[in-house]
Amino acid sequence: MISRLRLQPADVGMGMTSQRVRDRLIERLRGNGIVDERVLNAIRTVPRHQFVDEALATRAYEDTALPIGHGQTISQPWVVAKMTEALLESAPKKVLEIGTGSGYQGAVLAALGLEVFTVERIGELLRIARKRFRALGLHVRSKHDDGRIGWPEEGPFDGIIVTAAAPALVEALSAQLAPGGTLVAPVGGASGQNLLRLRKDAEGNIEQADLGPVVFVPLLSGMTDR
Ligand code: SAH
Repeated sequence: MISRLRLQPADVGMGMTSQRVRDRLIERLRGNGIVDERVLNAIRTVPRHQFVDEALATRAYEDTALPIGHGQTISQPWVVAKMTEALLESAPKKVLEIGTGSGYQGAVLAALGLEVFTVERIGELLRIARKRFRALGLHVRSKHDDGRIGWPEEGPFDGIIVTAAAPALVEALSAQLAPGGTLVAPVGGASGQNLLRLRKDAEGNIEQADLGPVVFVPLLSGMTDR
């Protein structure tokens, strides 16, 4: 599945972006409870250093969030792994991401062979993320919009991943979740956020679980170019 990626020499990396350094991150994720080999393999393969500014490339395989401009961040690899793992549990085909940001999470999902739709409210971030998807040969559908409305024309989705925190779960998004689907989203405010997992059964009943504390940038309303 990971073979969908079209890797160039710069994607393969060297020094602090080399395979050896990336493998260290994978071992760290394993040590912190990530068990799904498909997820570990996708994170090993997708060149995270291509999703941050060149000046930060040497830090790309540290398990930390990094700034991507506009006051936003590329999520910490462990968080990306955890959310992806939770999403894969319901064997999704079609998934929606809210908050494209750098494009990294979307690229990980696409590398896993999923049909990915992603929404970003900051035009400039989306333009850069689209270039990255294209360069890696990844097919990701994206739109510039306020992701709090989801993507109703393309729904329902087997999986929905929200990568910015809202004070409460967004109704419009859980409404676009297909029966049997899973939604993962950070919920909370300045006093703390938790990663919530919502599962919708065949009858449409919703079961909620708390996957633990996380730190995300806020889910904001409206859209902007920069
Ligand atoms: N998934 C991203 C994480 C980016 S941080 C990655 O892998 O890099 C969260 C992103 O959510 C930011 O880019 C921010 O602009 C975006 N965001 C915040 N509120 C949003 C909204 N209402 N709709 C769409 N995107 C939003």
